[in-house]
Amino acid sequence: MNIPYLDLKRVNFNVQNKIDEVYQKIMETQWFIRGEYCKEFEQEFAAYCGAKYCVGVGNGLDAIRLILQGMGIGQGDEVIVSAHTFIATILAITYTGATPVLIDADMRTYNIALDKIEKKITSKTRAIIVVHLYGQAVNTKPLYELKNKYQIKIIEDAAQAHGARINGKMTGALGDAAAFSFYPGKNLGAMGDAGAVVTDDRFLADRVRALANYGSYKKYEHMYQGCNSRLDDLQAGFLSVKLPHLEEWNEERREMARGYQQGIRNDRITLPQWDNSDNHVFHVYPILCETRNELAAYLKNRGIETNVHYPTPVFRQRAYKELRKNEKDYPVTSRLCSQEISLPLYPGLTPDEQKYIIRCLNEYKEQSI
Ligand SMILES: *Cc1c(COP(=O)(O)O)cnc(C)c1O
Repeated sequence: MNIPYLDLKRVNFNVQNKIDEVYQKIMETQWFIRGEYCKEFEQEFAAYCGAKYCVGVGNGLDAIRLILQGMGIGQGDEVIVSAHTFIATILAITYTGATPVLIDADMRTYNIALDKIEKKITSKTRAIIVVHLYGQAVNTKPLYELKNKYQIKIIEDAAQAHGARINGKMTGALGDAAAFSFYPGKNLGAMGDAGAVVTDDRFLADRVRALANYGSYKKYEHMYQGCNSRLDDLQAGFLSVKLPHLEEWNEERREMARGYQQGIRNDRITLPQWDNSDNHVFHVYPILCETRNELAAYLKNRGIETNVHYPTPVFRQRAYKELRKNEKDYPVTSRLCSQEISLPLYPGLTPDEQKYIIRCLNEYKEQSI
């Protein structure tokens, strides 16, 4: 059996006809940037998240960066963030000139360790970015207290968690603003790069829209030194076709996660902790194994492709040499980076394929490559 880590065909072929229709219609109108499709998708996605505004942007990295810039965060400011994340979260912070203050991950959730945040808050702290990593929503409730006490903003990096819910709210409505990515492989993916900022803050939404459009609210009048990061209508139209399927796709992912939770029985493997609620949309199904690389090779030999999220933490990247001195402060992140391995999990993965993956995992012993 040959099982790819991700097979987008199985997702996108379900909507092929409607995707073709969008393309045809846009070829008729020839309106490619910030047109009707863009406006429609922004309204639909804001409504889906239970937020007031959505601004389509070029990608997820820009979405985070534009939120920070829109909040006036930059040089001299500090932004608290999980050490265990994709590099884009950190790049967005340093791009603005602000300093990332890393917090180790929590061994239960793999998300930011909530109890370690307060002692890192200083007079320079302007925001906390929570990353709903692997698709599991961070419980932001305890952070509201810090937000009020220290006058700081809560920003969500929701690039992996479209549709996850916690405390009766969706990601996108759990803080002051949220950044989404619609990179093709995400739970809601475009057919190219795309992203969005979601917020209830009218001023911030307008400012992000201007910043992403050459710093301009009005043509040829430039309030800010902005950039060009807009959502194009083809991508917006494709996303509108896929959005109505997101709930069913996420449920399919959760069902598959249940299959792994119940089926995998191997002392060498640690499964993610999950309360079986819809706080998780399993963008990634992360298991831990001390012999991670051997396990990956073992699975590869049996036709099963896996992935690692992420092999090298930000504080060990050459681009961030200055963060390395604090390496010992992030033991959980280090452990996750050396032990995590992501199993295939996506809409369209068949029960037989999953059974085969589970059987291979349960038969895995040391040196069974
Ligand atoms: C994918 C991702 C991003 C970046 O999104 P792009 O659209 O690829 O720029 C940011 N943060 C996290 C956690 C991601 O997974």
